[in-house]
Amino acid sequence: MAERHRHEVIVIGAGLAGLAAACKLQAEGVDAQVLEAQERVGGRVHSMRQLGSNQEAGGTYIGAGYTRIIGVAERFGVELIDVTPMLAFFREQELVLGNEIIRQADWPDHPANLFNGDDRALMPWAYYRMLTVKENPLAQPADWLAPASARHDVSVYDWLKGLGFDDAVIKLAYGINVSFGEDAGDVSALLLFFRAAFSVAQRRLSPEGVAGYTAKNGVARIPEAMAAALDPPAQLQKVVVAITSEADDTTVHCADGSVYHAPQVVCSLPFGVLRHIKIEPPLRGLQAEAVNTLPAQAMTQVYLAHKSNFWEADGFSPSLFTDGVAGMVAAARNGTDPKEVTSFTAWTLGANATRLDALPPAAAGRLVIDAIEAIRPAAKGQLEFLGIQSWGTDPFAQGGWAYFKPGQIARFAAAMGARHGQIRFCGEHLGRASRGMEGAMESGERVAAEILAL
Ligand SMILES: Cc1cc2nc3c(=O)[nH]c(=O)nc-3n(C[C@H](O)[C@H](O)[C@H](O)COP(=O)(O)OP(=O)(O)OC[C@H]3O[C@@H](n4cnc5c(N)ncnc54)[C@H](O)[C@@H]3O)c2cc1C
Repeated sequence: MAERHRHEVIVIGAGLAGLAAACKLQAEGVDAQVLEAQERVGGRVHSMRQLGSNQEAGGTYIGAGYTRIIGVAERFGVELIDVTPMLAFFREQELVLGNEIIRQADWPDHPANLFNGDDRALMPWAYYRMLTVKENPLAQPADWLAPASARHDVSVYDWLKGLGFDDAVIKLAYGINVSFGEDAGDVSALLLFFRAAFSVAQRRLSPEGVAGYTAKNGVARIPEAMAAALDPPAQLQKVVVAITSEADDTTVHCADGSVYHAPQVVCSLPFGVLRHIKIEPPLRGLQAEAVNTLPAQAMTQVYLAHKSNFWEADGFSPSLFTDGVAGMVAAARNGTDPKEVTSFTAWTLGANATRLDALPPAAAGRLVIDAIEAIRPAAKGQLEFLGIQSWGTDPFAQGGWAYFKPGQIARFAAAMGARHGQIRFCGEHLGRASRGMEGAMESGERVAAEILAL
């Protein structure tokens, strides 16, 4: 006989979105039960404490205007650290094109620099960000979902072509380590406008001189503290496999045979995960299409220890922004002194991440170390593989974060987050005015407010 449970609300997923919904519901006296597939809470907030220092595999940077995250950290006693002094060091990374290290100071006059006039001073990673702020048609972040914005839901490639750039410039500006999609043809410009509008809005909310925060002892402290306050507590290792609804009762089925009933369900799963869950009656029309087709970014991080300060031997900055398989090789500074490099993380995205995902972990680590050694011989024999985190192959994430292909925002905006009978959806992909961790919280609080209003 299956183990059966009854609650007022079932919340599926204990990432920030699910936890935000559950905290809000329980604060109002609702019997909300969280079901989480893994043996930890936090989802894509994941502090890799097993690596010995404060390594983050997921959400790390808390914008100084993330009012929800900052509020919840204060409420649950999680200490935030101002990362402004660290960010100056992160900006010091060198550009690497085809194994040639190009210092930032040499970039304006370098022959590979295809930008024009004053734009030549901009590094490739900063270029499209500057353009999405300067050319942004959105008055405020939430406007990305407005029907009037649909005309901007074209590829980044078409948008940049429209601004008069040729293919080589577009590849330099949006072709290396891009956060969304494989290349400029694969992502909607409207998503980049949303992201830029959110960044600008963040800056307005930030206290003078503060760029952002992270959490002491790992960002996972935040979802952990939220989960610790839950009563009933989140049930871990509950892999939801099916949701069936009848009249005013919804049944959530877990892989271990346990069954949970409630009149209301909050589902915070990323669409790449949700598409493998059996929903009865099934999702229909554009909502089904959104769940089945919305892509998520392949992202894999390789963690490396260093045996010596090899960068002092070649005189380049420890951090590199490469156009090869090592992606962005960032010096972590997780000690008390931001000048001290504590380890390295190679952040790979898109095709580079997919290439690493196809290899056994140690071989992926070797490939990245070989790539770094080919770029800077001073690193030879100085790097050691510590571990790897792949979001693309994680069955409970199915990618780092959602992105929208050209046309998908206008097509899915109204339908993708719609209530399906008694099931409400949330998650970072359904943030309306905020992105990342703050967007996840926003979406969770929104669906909780809808239930409380019933
Ligand atoms: C590498 C990386 C870096 C990032 N950096 C930043 C950053 O610096 N700043 C920022 O603001 N954001 C950042 N983000 C984004 C941020 O981490 C996410 O937007 C946010 O954590 C998503 O929260 P969520 O609740 O929507 O989803 P998730 O955290 O993915 O939560 C979903 C939960 O559902 C669970 N689940 C999955 N399948 C099932 C199932 N079948 N049954 C039950 N439970 C299930 C999962 O285990 C998970 O706990 C980053 C993300 C990544 C991947």
